[in-house]
Amino acid sequence: MAIIVLAEDDEAVRPFVKRALEADGHLVHAFENGEEALDFLCQTEKHIDLLLSDIKMPIMDGIELAGSVARILPKLPILLMTGYADQREGAKALQALIIDVIPKPFTLALIRAKVNETLIDNAKRL
Ligand SMILES: [Mg+2]
Repeated sequence: MAIIVLAEDDEAVRPFVKRALEADGHLVHAFENGEEALDFLCQTEKHIDLLLSDIKMPIMDGIELAGSVARILPKLPILLMTGYADQREGAKALQALIIDVIPKPFTLALIRAKVNETLIDNAKRL
């Protein structure tokens, strides 16, 4: 079981991803923009295992969120997701800070596999 912070502004995608990860036994804290996710990450006393964030969101996007989180919580693995090829390119500047960028649309099986693979790899690193 891992504790995951999910940032996704799409009202359809957010519960879809949350339920998919909960089905694997993870605890998911879901937020609708980067600012809310960042506030939570700054305030929580829980150990968070993974940040999964959409890139294109209002108020604070996933790029800005990843940059801030990398400074505050440098060991927290970050996975980004986007439906836009140009944003996948833009995220290359963040390559050192993030694990991967997952292209949308994705299947339930793919997002679960990607998250679980990241959690296992990270556990091995520790
Ligand atoms: Mg979005």
